[in-house]
Amino acid sequence: MAASLDRKRLYESDRFHAENYYSGPLGCVYAPAGTSFYLWAPTAEAVQLRLFLKGDGGRCLDQHPMHRQAHGVWTAFLPGNRAGLYYTYAVTVDGHTEEIVDPYARSGGVNGRRGMILDLRTTDPAGWQQDSRPLIPAEQRVIWEVSVRDFSASPSSGIRLSMRGKFLAFTQENTTLSFDGVNPTCLAYLKRLGVTHVQLLPIYDSGSVNEARPLENQYNWGYDPVNYNMPEGSYSTDPFRGEVRVRELKQAVMALHKAGIGVVMDVVYNHMWHWDNCLNGAVPNYFFRQNEDGSPSNGSGCGNEVASERPMARRFIIDSLVYWATEYHLDGFRFDLMGLLDVDTMNAARAALDALPDGNRILMYGEPWQGGGSAITAPAADKGNLHLLSERIGVFCDNTRDAIKGSCFHAADPGYVTGKADACWDIGAGVAAWCRSDHLPPHAPSQIVSYVSAHDNFTLWDKLLLTNGHPKTKADYTGSPADEATQKALAQNRLCAAIYLTCMGMPFMQAGEEFARTKYGEGNSYNSPLAVNQLDWQRAAAYHPLVDYYRGLIGLRKAFPALGAQDRTAAESIVFSPLPEQPLVGWMMPARPGDNTPWQALCVFYNPTEARHTAQLPAGVWRLLCSGESSSLWCGAELLCSDTVALPPCCAVILGQVG
Ligand code: CA
Repeated sequence: MAASLDRKRLYESDRFHAENYYSGPLGCVYAPAGTSFYLWAPTAEAVQLRLFLKGDGGRCLDQHPMHRQAHGVWTAFLPGNRAGLYYTYAVTVDGHTEEIVDPYARSGGVNGRRGMILDLRTTDPAGWQQDSRPLIPAEQRVIWEVSVRDFSASPSSGIRLSMRGKFLAFTQENTTLSFDGVNPTCLAYLKRLGVTHVQLLPIYDSGSVNEARPLENQYNWGYDPVNYNMPEGSYSTDPFRGEVRVRELKQAVMALHKAGIGVVMDVVYNHMWHWDNCLNGAVPNYFFRQNEDGSPSNGSGCGNEVASERPMARRFIIDSLVYWATEYHLDGFRFDLMGLLDVDTMNAARAALDALPDGNRILMYGEPWQGGGSAITAPAADKGNLHLLSERIGVFCDNTRDAIKGSCFHAADPGYVTGKADACWDIGAGVAAWCRSDHLPPHAPSQIVSYVSAHDNFTLWDKLLLTNGHPKTKADYTGSPADEATQKALAQNRLCAAIYLTCMGMPFMQAGEEFARTKYGEGNSYNSPLAVNQLDWQRAAAYHPLVDYYRGLIGLRKAFPALGAQDRTAAESIVFSPLPEQPLVGWMMPARPGDNTPWQALCVFYNPTEARHTAQLPAGVWRLLCSGESSSLWCGAELLCSDTVALPPCCAVILGQVG
């Protein structure tokens, strides 16, 4: 421990920072006339650049000593066109040599064990120069979260075999359920659903899946970073050729953009897969937060955590974000365990992304919590410091999530829709994106991600079934649209959707939540078989009325932009109705002047009880837009009412003022 404690003292000293903070280029900078290499390794005694013909195996072609420059950076220059070669660095610190991948490597060989010298322009698909981030009004954003593998791995996806589970599946248009020619799947399905952004589970190079082996019996979400700046090889059609993963990810992004859909990348800058990693090999301990005794802090629950507050670690994170945003035209970043990153790093990242062309369109939001006790001393980007974060850095709102459906850890714990009557106060707070509550520090609604389910924990469907009763068999989870338990859960599911899709803030959903996705009661499927994780597109057809319910709500939300208002004072316009029956919640929100909306105001009621109620309407003529059964009434014949409205059991009723 002594060495690591000495290092902690060294790295946290002003002198080390003054002597070694480096702001010049890093990584491998390719040009046809020659390639330059830059590695920041201030504690190294020697660094060798090693070249290889292949990304894995074969002997070292050549070894070149690198030269120490000011500020702890080591450089080498290789004349001539070296594109296509692979490389590593052999870094010697305290007499010990580690061979590492360049932390800035843009691509690599199979399993990311060697970096690749890449002419990035040759990875651009045709038309890439014309590709840009779609302009999606902030008020309209709705995020749909999926793993690349889950999206299309099933034969029911209608994707041809060679592209199933790969980036390229996103490029396939007009696909249908098992090629039936009727029920849309994948991209065609998303266009119809109306979500504005697809959030991809980790797509950087992660470690748990062996890219060199057949993937049949391997599965992992990918929260195990190995190389932060290269795409995951198992999502490409050829993980052995480094240029392929880069090109195919760009093709996927371009196809989604062409469909008007933004792409959000899940970034896990909070920890790495193993302690033996490229950052530790370059500068032992520097990039990882340390306890007082020098040992690694483990706020991630994965054995280590990144010391984002150390200046070169902060720079590494921001460089990586800017690279992905620029090279891959990405539309946003979702920060895993954001509570392990410090506030200053997050705000500096916001500023760096804003400085890019159209950079203010790039979303930033994350998990405002940690995975265990952390040694972080700088203000952390967690819920308690919401007021210190940019108004355009959001957090997953577990308050709203748990109020609606109950605890995500305790299966039987009920929420508002499953019988917890006193959750009604938190539902009201959630509608106003907690801007009128003292549960969270002062913030803007733009900082709240309103949701009920994500990749972690039970699917919404499983949670509802587990809270309602005791599903035992796989068939209990699958359900049948005709049986009573399924009918009950469907009504609750529709109510969940109607609540969070009428909350202020930015709505977010796990892929398949809208078709009663089940993992058969599995609460953590990060390495479960593919069969548990992959989207079952058959289910999207079987539960298409539920899909349509989500679709109608998404459309309704887009038609009333005040719900997605971003500014700090927006929630003040909500007027809550004094309803005599306690668990009922009712509220009204006026349209904002100048909004393009057919309704002067929206009036919303939630009835989680098993009884029918009647509610008093505010003065005026109201059109019924959404009932417990249909969320698309606003698209059909006008159903007008005034004075009162009926609230059937377990449903939301939404009305728009037309006079
Ligand atoms: Ca990998």
